[in-house]
Amino acid sequence: MPDSTHDLVLEFALATDPERDASALRVARLLPGFDAQALDSGRCRVRCSLEEAVSLRDVILDLWEQVQARPGAKLFLDSRPLDLDGLRQVLRVMDCAQAYDQEQRGDAHCAPRSGWDWGCLYLADVSPQTGAHGLDRPALKELLAREAEARWLDLCPHFASARVAAKVDGLSDAALNALPKDKEAGGKVLRPGQASPGAGASVSERVIQVTTYADVGGLDEVVAALRETIELPIRHPEVLRRLGVAPHRGVLLHGPPGCGKTLLARAVACESGARFFPVSGPELITKWHGESEERLRELFMQAQEAQPAIIFFDEIDAIAQARSSSESLRLDARFTAQLLTLMDGIYDLGRVFILAATNRPDLLDKALLRPGRFDAVIEIPRPDRVGLKRILEIHARRLPLADGVDLGKVARRMAGLTGADVAYVAREGAYACLRRSMPLGSVLREAEAIPEEALGQLQVTEADLLAALQKLRQRNKVVSQEQDVGDGPPANT
Ligand code: ADP
Repeated sequence: MPDSTHDLVLEFALATDPERDASALRVARLLPGFDAQALDSGRCRVRCSLEEAVSLRDVILDLWEQVQARPGAKLFLDSRPLDLDGLRQVLRVMDCAQAYDQEQRGDAHCAPRSGWDWGCLYLADVSPQTGAHGLDRPALKELLAREAEARWLDLCPHFASARVAAKVDGLSDAALNALPKDKEAGGKVLRPGQASPGAGASVSERVIQVTTYADVGGLDEVVAALRETIELPIRHPEVLRRLGVAPHRGVLLHGPPGCGKTLLARAVACESGARFFPVSGPELITKWHGESEERLRELFMQAQEAQPAIIFFDEIDAIAQARSSSESLRLDARFTAQLLTLMDGIYDLGRVFILAATNRPDLLDKALLRPGRFDAVIEIPRPDRVGLKRILEIHARRLPLADGVDLGKVARRMAGLTGADVAYVAREGAYACLRRSMPLGSVLREAEAIPEEALGQLQVTEADLLAALQKLRQRNKVVSQEQDVGDGPPANT
């Protein structure tokens, strides 16, 4: 072990300028299987066993990182193409197998949440969150087998597919049916832990509503900034490599509640194809009292494993306030210190990005804002007049609007409101239309589906939207009065 029958081939075309190749060639010459003759035909070629590659992992990684973006650069393991993430995964699987051989790790070496999340035990605990539609046992086994192959788990000499199959056979029908369904039956996405039968609540990726930039209104500049800071390094890391700059690791979004911070985070994750790990600040502390730091490490590890990934800390002020000597804040202090350590990239995070949102940036520990941590800080303001109209258009796009509804006119009456308020007005406007057009009792008395003709009567008018706006203002008044009572008598102004 590792199995020397696996063959790794790395190849790239030489540049016309030999200077440009000096560094790559110096590294390539260090590797066994360096083919000096290939240089004559203008190519650099290395063929070595996987065993040799594992023992020279840093050299291989360094070389591939240098040349992977070149036209015609190729990396193959047993004729299967590999990219950088794939190469890292292969090396991890082999390290894990080696540690097992050397009895550094017992049978739990590849168990879920052991920190070595890529073995067969891990896979047996995986539940499909996409493509689980109509899955029966054979289909689930096939899906897991594909996942094993995609993650190169089957390279591990200890990988036991029988164990995975036995786990699937042991699932009750109820557990099988409880697997989340998704309309896309691609079966490509498998995620650890979370919805897995028998798995406890864990920090993990959640299935999120598909969100695109087109769902975000009035924040074009912010969207452009996020595309540059997060989407670009995720989708085209070669561009920043070429520029010789490191990507921002963390982005802090701050601004009033309900203005789209979470929405933006979801949109960036969906559009960049990253796995999304949302965590709410208060939930972290209250749920995990005593084990918060460990859960945080676990979260980072899971994200690293699933990269490219985005970890999103909502209400980060609840967990990372300025550290204080006060007894009551000691937990926060430990937690903040752990977060700082993780963000400092002691662990090579790869393509893991951290997004955080807060309404109170002033409360945050200043150390979080240093370079390499949340070094991009973006304000998400309340929408202006143009933004309000755009947000209203977004939320009204599925409403059956009556002819002549002037959304601009409605939006002009919304000054000072948030995006969440606008979403409320659109939804409540639809209900106002329903109440006006179809008495609830008569709808519910119908045993059959309501005919298309009757549904055609449902048309949301400007008056419906204005009535909803009025309702929102009343609601906001009640809420602010309740807050005044809670906060003591209102100040005399
Ligand atoms: P925050 O995280 O800033 O508190 P959210 O992103 O959770 O706010 O917003 C709540 C909801 O309000 C969103 O799911 C969306 O329906 C609506 N919303 C807020 N801002 C916008 C926006 N700029 N464009 C479109 N919808 C918005």
